[in-house]
Amino acid sequence: MAGPCAMAALRARRGAVRGLCRSLSGKNEYDLLVIGGGSGGLACAKEAAQFGRKVAVLDYVDPSPQGTTWGLGGTCVNVGCIPKKLMHQAALLGSALKDAPHYGWNVAHPVHHSWSVMAQAVQNYVKSLNWGHRVQLQDKKVKYLNMKGSFCDPHTVRGLTKAGKETIVTADNIVIATGGRPKYPTHIAGALQYGITSDDLFWLKESPGKTLIVGASYVSLECAGFLTGIGLDTAVMMRSIPLRGFDQQMASLVTEHMESYGTKFLKRCFPTKVEKLESNRLQVTWKNTDLGTEETDSFDTVMWAVGRAPDTKTLNLERVGVKTNSETGKIIVDASEATSVPHIYAIGDITEGRPELTPTAIAAGKLLAQRLCGHSSELMDYDSVPTTVFTPLEYGCVGLSEEAAVQRHGADNVEMVCLREREQRILGLHFIGPNAGEVIQGFALGIKCGATYPQLMKTVGIHPTCAEEVTKLHITKRSGLDATVTGC
Ligand code: FAD
Ligand code: NDP
Repeated sequence: MAGPCAMAALRARRGAVRGLCRSLSGKNEYDLLVIGGGSGGLACAKEAAQFGRKVAVLDYVDPSPQGTTWGLGGTCVNVGCIPKKLMHQAALLGSALKDAPHYGWNVAHPVHHSWSVMAQAVQNYVKSLNWGHRVQLQDKKVKYLNMKGSFCDPHTVRGLTKAGKETIVTADNIVIATGGRPKYPTHIAGALQYGITSDDLFWLKESPGKTLIVGASYVSLECAGFLTGIGLDTAVMMRSIPLRGFDQQMASLVTEHMESYGTKFLKRCFPTKVEKLESNRLQVTWKNTDLGTEETDSFDTVMWAVGRAPDTKTLNLERVGVKTNSETGKIIVDASEATSVPHIYAIGDITEGRPELTPTAIAAGKLLAQRLCGHSSELMDYDSVPTTVFTPLEYGCVGLSEEAAVQRHGADNVEMVCLREREQRILGLHFIGPNAGEVIQGFALGIKCGATYPQLMKTVGIHPTCAEEVTKLHITKRSGLDATVTGC
């Protein structure tokens, strides 16, 4: 007997055949259906619509375990890049206020930061972006369905609204762009019950107060940085190294600066339980692996920043045979973003082996749409993708870390993350300082074009800037000389 999904699909197909909503192929309702209205999904949908295709986007946000929810636009807009960068900016303004008296400004003390004012402004801005995305979809004639999608068959997706209303959508091509959500270490007692994640932090109406952040990568260090910067007592619990995968000399500079800025680091520690005290504070117990001791402290907020998990649970991927990596749960794709099932593609954070970054998701989505619409055959190039960690002292980089360069080319062949031989091609560029993202963005073009060390030395600096230091690099580690800049 056919299930409701199959019956509904049949109804939808009959509808399409009767010409109610015909795609280019004439068989399915849409040319393209995108599941997930985040960075990658929206870019892909809008690009395809621009080429005259009939496109629909399904987007649905499951509330976080603490009940936080948000609108259209995905992680970056609602609980990622945008609110993070605004809160980082709030912290930078606080630092500028501290410097201001030295520049002659008479700043009345004590200076007080209001979380609720900042949060309200950030949340209003995010809501304006949610609205902007809806308008853009409307303008481009992309059908937006605020529904959670799951596969019925390779061309049919069942959409479910919050109220439980079902809609069946059929499409010639389907793109999965459902991103990821923060992980909870559910093996730790009290973790799920009392802890929050970055999905909640940006939507708190009141200050998180004294905060412990567990984890030591992008999300943890960025959030700890801005919380410290706005004056909150903030600690980072780090079980191993900071910023795994990044150049470790630079990662140390980031954390050393954060320590001098006021962030506490509980190094080589991992939490074992979280309990609620009568005072409503959260008591965290952890093991210190260096000392072999068990330690505790109480906090107003405990935030888990222990990585993100792909959002595939409810998609019904097994039903249609879309293959995932059994360890990471991410969707396996080839260079053209195709999954193991013809006509089903995947882009962005949900895909195996891709950077979890907004610009790569957007670029991959646009290029995929262009290929699907026959306007290009260009594949996404994931090499030399620049990125920046927005810690109080920002860290931007492009290309290989020193460790990766040495591993790939051998220690004797690498100097200052450049090849030593022949034209001395630059393998990686790493910059710590104000506006690191702005600095690295420009140099990323050079690296993409195969820039060499002699070309970098011929590049005239802009004075006085921090970026000009990159054009003056001449002291290498191997020389043993002190690279500290002592004058203009
Ligand atoms: P997402 O943007 O996550 O969108 C997926 C969408 O699909 C979501 O709306 C989700 O609710 C929806 N969805 C899931 N399942 C279903 C379903 N079954 N049906 C319908 N809809 C569904 N990147 C940067 O480049 N720069 C930064 O500064 C930066 N900062 C970040 C800060 C934080 C705190 C975090 C967490 C991430 C940050 N990122 C940053 C990463 C960036 O946000 C992601 O790489 C990017 O959003 C991924 O886009 P995506 O399209 O793959 O998925
Ligand atoms: P990551 O997976 O990069 O890091 C997870 C961190 O949590 C690591 O420090 C890891 O330590 C630690 N950890 C994992 N499990 C545990 C545990 N059980 N107990 C204690 N610590 C644990 O995740 P993030 O959430 O920081 O970032 C996800 C992605 O989002 C990034 O890769 C990035 O692409 C994107 N992003 C981009 C930003 C930007 O562009 N500025 C900003 C924020 C996010 P260990 O190293 O020991 O495994």
